[in-house]
Amino acid sequence: SHPVFTDMPTTVFEVMSGLARQHDAINLGQGFPDAPGPEALRRLAAEAVLNGPNQYPPSRGVPALREAVVEHYRRLQQVNLSVDGVVVTSGATEAIAAALFAHVSPGDEVLIFEPAYDAYRPLIQRAGGVVRAVALTAPTWRLTEEAIEAAVTPATRMVLFNNPLNPAARMFDTGEIAALARVCVRHDLIAVSDEVWEHIVFDGRPHRSLLSASGMAERTIKIGSAGKMFGLTGWKVGFACGAPELITPVAKAHQFLTFTTAPNLQTAVAAGLGWGADWFRAQGDDLGRSRDRLGTALKAEGYAVTPSEGTYFLCVDLAASGLALPDEDFCRRIVTEFGVAAIPLSAFEATPITRTVARLCFAKSDAVLDQAAERLGRAR
Ligand code: GLN
Repeated sequence: SHPVFTDMPTTVFEVMSGLARQHDAINLGQGFPDAPGPEALRRLAAEAVLNGPNQYPPSRGVPALREAVVEHYRRLQQVNLSVDGVVVTSGATEAIAAALFAHVSPGDEVLIFEPAYDAYRPLIQRAGGVVRAVALTAPTWRLTEEAIEAAVTPATRMVLFNNPLNPAARMFDTGEIAALARVCVRHDLIAVSDEVWEHIVFDGRPHRSLLSASGMAERTIKIGSAGKMFGLTGWKVGFACGAPELITPVAKAHQFLTFTTAPNLQTAVAAGLGWGADWFRAQGDDLGRSRDRLGTALKAEGYAVTPSEGTYFLCVDLAASGLALPDEDFCRRIVTEFGVAAIPLSAFEATPITRTVARLCFAKSDAVLDQAAERLGRAR
């Protein structure tokens, strides 16, 4: 159960983006916007790099950013954090790795929910943990207390949760979150809650942090991503937040992973976090319109589109679309022959059960989405 990284396949995102470049395809695979990101933030980052300082900032993060994170979550999610409960990382993936390295000992079991983001399993295993996967199934992807409970053993230490859920684009409701919280409290589990899509949510439904569920404030490490918040995915500024007793060990792991993160980007993100709820809501609404545009166009081409409640993604159910081929074959075919890259959901399951669903990124201009839908129409 300890994978050797030299034998490990390249992540599906890198493979698909490579194929997209090779075939000059529209890349709806790896999730990133085709817009340049907020100009005000890019200017702040440019000024900060010119003015400096450009030497190592404190390992836990630039103080102004840690304070801004506390204030941001207080105002937008009514979550109570202290500056000692925030560590800035080089992206959310590093925050997840640091949380695992800090709190998982060899033999500890970690629950994940599949389809799960592809970094989770190898990182848990490399931390010495044992993965226990709870299977969620299309098209509802519902989480039940029975299914979570059934996966718990005396060795279970942690739950690695993702809400909204990439790749299924599901936002778990308060009932499901309460069920997860009850299991965590009952078995004294730590939860790492990957909430990087917290502001990319649709139809007016607010995101609720696992931190604010009953009994979870002292046992949740909430992970956030400035890259996702501002549509600047290459910046790789993330944060791990929670009770200082949980976060201090994460900060210890972080000091030996990357130690710190570019100070100019941290300074710019600190300013952006002050923009307030309206700005984030407007960005979510914009992305919701992109979701609708691609979804409507794909339906018109005969595709069965599953609901997307958050993230940059929607999924098409190939079987329900009358396409009798595995998702991996479909994705290979559309990128090589029709010039559109997508991600097969099979890549997010160790033993794939959802073999006929493909994920598409809609964080693109209308013209690009329309052209992609037209090409996918010809692929049917
Ligand atoms: N989070 C991105 C996605 O789901 C991928 C990020 C990466 O490639 N590391 O598409």
